[in-house]
Amino acid sequence: MRSLQGIGVSKGLAFGPVYVYEKTDIPIHTAPIAPGEAQQEADKFRNAVELTVKQISSIAKAAEGTLGEENAKVFEAHLDIAEDPALEEMVMDNIHTAHMNAMRALGEAKESFAALFRELGDDYFRERVFDLDDVCERILCNLAGVVPASLQFLPEKVIVVAEDLTPSITATMDREKVLAFVTETGGKTSHTAIMARTLEIPAVVGLKEARAQLPNGEKIIVDGQAGTVLTHPDAAAMAEYERKKLRHSQEKEALRAILNEPSITLDGRKIELYANIGSPGDIEAVTANNGEGVGLFRTEFLYMDSTRFPVEEEQFTAYRQVAQGMAGKPVIIRTLDIGGDKTLPYFTFPKEENPFLGYRAIRMCLDMPEIFKTQLRAILRASALGRVKILLPMVISLEEVRAAKSLLAECKGELRAQGIAFDEGIKVGVMVETPAAVLMADAFAKEVDFFSLGTNDLTQYVLAVDRGNESINALFNPYHPAVLHSIKKVIDAAHREGKFVGMCGEFAGDEQAVPLLLGLGLDELSVSASSLLAVKKVIRNQHYSHAQRLAQEVLALTTVAEVEARLGA
Ligand code: PEP
Ligand code: MG
Repeated sequence: MRSLQGIGVSKGLAFGPVYVYEKTDIPIHTAPIAPGEAQQEADKFRNAVELTVKQISSIAKAAEGTLGEENAKVFEAHLDIAEDPALEEMVMDNIHTAHMNAMRALGEAKESFAALFRELGDDYFRERVFDLDDVCERILCNLAGVVPASLQFLPEKVIVVAEDLTPSITATMDREKVLAFVTETGGKTSHTAIMARTLEIPAVVGLKEARAQLPNGEKIIVDGQAGTVLTHPDAAAMAEYERKKLRHSQEKEALRAILNEPSITLDGRKIELYANIGSPGDIEAVTANNGEGVGLFRTEFLYMDSTRFPVEEEQFTAYRQVAQGMAGKPVIIRTLDIGGDKTLPYFTFPKEENPFLGYRAIRMCLDMPEIFKTQLRAILRASALGRVKILLPMVISLEEVRAAKSLLAECKGELRAQGIAFDEGIKVGVMVETPAAVLMADAFAKEVDFFSLGTNDLTQYVLAVDRGNESINALFNPYHPAVLHSIKKVIDAAHREGKFVGMCGEFAGDEQAVPLLLGLGLDELSVSASSLLAVKKVIRNQHYSHAQRLAQEVLALTTVAEVEARLGA
C-alpha cells in the first residue's frame, strides 16, 4: 500500500480502477514514398476510411440516445465527408502522382478542401471546415493505429488519471462512469477542479507523475478533500475509506436541514446565494440545493462541446432552459470566455507565448462581432423568458464595455425589427478579473449595472501567479492582502454608485473565507451547487456586525500567514 499526495480540490471519496487518459499524438512522416509503395498506401487509406465510417456510425447511434436526434445529425454530415469521392480522389492523386504517404496525402487534401470552403465564405461552408477537421483527425488516428483520445465512451466506472484534462474533454466525457479525477497538473481553480466540483466528482490535482505511478486497472482510493491517493489499499484502509465515505454523506445529509432556510445572518443581513453552472443540465443540482439564482453561467462549455460555433437557435435553447428552469430567479449569463487554457476543437487559435494574456474572452468576441452577436441575440431572446443578465469576462477597459454595449444595441434593433420579444432593460455587468478593472472600478461602476468578482483570474493577475501551475500552487492564494484590498476597493466602488456586487470565483465557496467576504460587504456569493448549503450554514451562523469587524481587522494585516491565521484557514 502506498499513499501519494496531491492537492485535494473536490471533496468526496472514490474507490475504483485506474483509467489512464493520454492525449492523441500522431507523428506524421513527410518523406516521399517509393513508386512501388503507392498501392500499399492507397489500401491503407481505404481501410482507414472504412474503419472511420464504422466508428462514426456507432457514435451516431449512441449520440441519438445521449444528445438527442437533432444534435446527433452532425454525425451524418461527418459520414458524408468520410465517404466523399472528391476527398478520396484528391488523396489518391497525392499518393500516386505526388508520391506522398497516406497520412501526408490526407493532410494536404484536407488543407485544399478547407481553403476552398473558406473561399466560398458563407457560414455553411465555414462550418464544414470544422467537420472536415474532425473527420480527417479520426482517419489520421486510424492510419496511425491510435484510438482518438476521449472520455466519451468508457468501458466501466473508472478513476481517470491524466496529465491534465482539457475543458473540452471534461465537457464531453461520460459523467456516469467517472468516479474521480487524478491529474498531474493544476491547482484549486484550474478548470478541471471547477468542473469536478460542479459535477460533484472527487478530484485530486497536481499529483506529480501520477500516470507513471498509477497503472491502468489498479484499484485505488481517492480522497478529494485530503488530496491523497492510496494504492493497493489493505483491509484497514478500506474500512477507513468506508467510514469517511459514510461521514461525508452524513454531513451532506445534515446540511439538508437548512435547505429551505434563507441565507441570512443572525442579525438579519441577507446575502444572495447563487450557483455557478456550466450547462443547462447543472440546473437540476442548483434547484435541488435551493440556489437563489445562477451567478455565473460559463457558456464556453456550450461552444467546447460542439463541432462548430453553436448557432443562435442552439444557444437560445440552452439559455431558455436555464432561464425557465430557474423560474424567474436571476440568471447571469457570461458571454463566451474562451482562450487561455480553453480551446475549441474547430477554431485555430493563434500560436501565443502567453495565452492567458492573449487572444481570449471579450477580446476575441469584439474581434469576431458576428460570432459575438449570435450569442447576444440568443441571450436577449432568452431574457423574455426569465430574469436574465449579461456578464462580460476579462474586461480591462471602458472601450470594451462600450463596444460590447453597442453590439448589444444592434442586436436589440434587429430583434425589434423582427418583432421578437426580449427584455429591453436587460442588465449588463462586468467580471472584475484584472488589475485594470480593479483600478478603474469607480469608472466602471458608473457605466455598468453590476460587478462580479472573478477571484480565480483576479488572484492570478494581481499576484502574477499562473492559476493552473502546480509548482507555484502555494503562491496562488486569494488570502493575499493585495487580493483582499482589490476586492474591498471593487465592493466600495460599486456601492458608491448603488450597484450590486457579487463574487463568482472559487473563493466565494471557501467556508473559512465566507465571514470575511460577508464583512467586506458583498451582496452575493456564487458557488458550485454542491457548496450552496455549506456556505449557507456559515452565513446563518454569523453576525454581520462581527463579520464587518473581522473584515476591518483582516484588512489591516500585511501577510498571507497572518490572514490565514486570523481566519483559521
Ligand atoms: C474567475 O476567473 O474567477 C471566474 C469565475 O472565471 P473562470 O474561472 O471561468 O475563469
Ligand atoms: Mg475567469
